[in-house]
Amino acid sequence: MKTFAPLLAPVLGALALFSTPTSAKSAEEKSDPVVILVSIDGFREDYLDRGITPHLSALAASGVSAAMRPSFPSKTFPNHWALVTGKVPDRNGIIANAFEDPAHPGEKFTMASDEPYWWDEAEPIWVTAEKAGIRTATMFWPGSNVAWGGTLVKEPWKTIEGGTRPSDWQQFNGAVSPSQRVDAVLDWMRRPAANRPRLVTLYFDQVDTAGHRYGPVDAHTDAAIADVDADIGKLVAGLRELGRATDLIVVADHGMAAVSSERTIALDTVAAPSLYKLGDAGPFAAITPTDGNEQALAAALLKPHDHMQCWRKQDIPARLHYGSNPRIAPFFCLAETGWQIATKRPDKASTGGAHGYDNAAPEMAALFVASGPDFMKRGKLPAFDNVDVAPLLRGLLGLPQSSDSDGNDAPFRDVMKHPRKD
Ligand SMILES: [Zn+2]
Repeated sequence: MKTFAPLLAPVLGALALFSTPTSAKSAEEKSDPVVILVSIDGFREDYLDRGITPHLSALAASGVSAAMRPSFPSKTFPNHWALVTGKVPDRNGIIANAFEDPAHPGEKFTMASDEPYWWDEAEPIWVTAEKAGIRTATMFWPGSNVAWGGTLVKEPWKTIEGGTRPSDWQQFNGAVSPSQRVDAVLDWMRRPAANRPRLVTLYFDQVDTAGHRYGPVDAHTDAAIADVDADIGKLVAGLRELGRATDLIVVADHGMAAVSSERTIALDTVAAPSLYKLGDAGPFAAITPTDGNEQALAAALLKPHDHMQCWRKQDIPARLHYGSNPRIAPFFCLAETGWQIATKRPDKASTGGAHGYDNAAPEMAALFVASGPDFMKRGKLPAFDNVDVAPLLRGLLGLPQSSDSDGNDAPFRDVMKHPRKD
């Protein structure tokens, strides 16, 4: 199904970056624009206002931008999966960066887990696209190395049978520099039409790393922001040189809040450590009672605390859309933004940045910038939820919308150049 009219390549201002030069239009104008989804991990929305991102700011000025609300919890893997599945973590199955599953006792999900069963609760856009005959390629993205829908076979040795991956994908390796990642995408764009991807993802982790280490307001973090902006500039220039019409969508998974060891909630002062097993901890804590201690733990946790609130999972406020997935621990505590939950008071002082907080906190707002032949020049849009990005991608690729999505393409309907026909 085709949802957008063929590209007519109107050359308007900075959009010329993504339009085919007039002299070379004949072949390209018959093909649909490539869609490139870029994630800059931990790029807080207001980093765009620091005057250090000429390339991203030019993209925003030529198209649209917004302060995008991450899904809860505002962590990396849950939100990267929400962006490409259109489902909140409670329904996409990646409920944290680290968790367990009662259906797989003894197993732990970590950011290195690639067994399909962890990921199978929601279908990512590259699988939907590949099934529809649209070629995809991923230059890193959480979950893009998974043989989605495949079966884990443990004997005689661990293998995965079946499943769907992007036609081209890369195992994550932090040693591959941002510039090399951009080169890989540009190489894909040089391919002949028959094996050139139509949907591409590209992932940068450096801004998040600096934000954690130095905090959101620091010269080191600014340097990482400026560096990744230069890589975006290199991508844009390369696409222009190739004359490849591209809808470029640059997002972040979450923002970043300043933290300090002085703002720590020590759990051992709230409940005796013998009462519980602690899962993920930091901006939130996932807590499971030890045998026979459910009532004692509830009494300790479910009373008012300074800088922290705890719930039984089924009582987590509805606006967070979190608590029904069996992978979520029975008790859940959320720290006030800028505070952190730890087993005990830290031994030494530290400062830095963290995320995972209430997804409505301004510090958690994530970058969204989109520009290309399908986007009007409309400037800043009202805030929207990141589960609306997958429906946007479906529209750009001509894929039918899913009836089972937590988001929709409403935020973008008035800013698209080619209104949907259906
Ligand atoms: Zn992240």
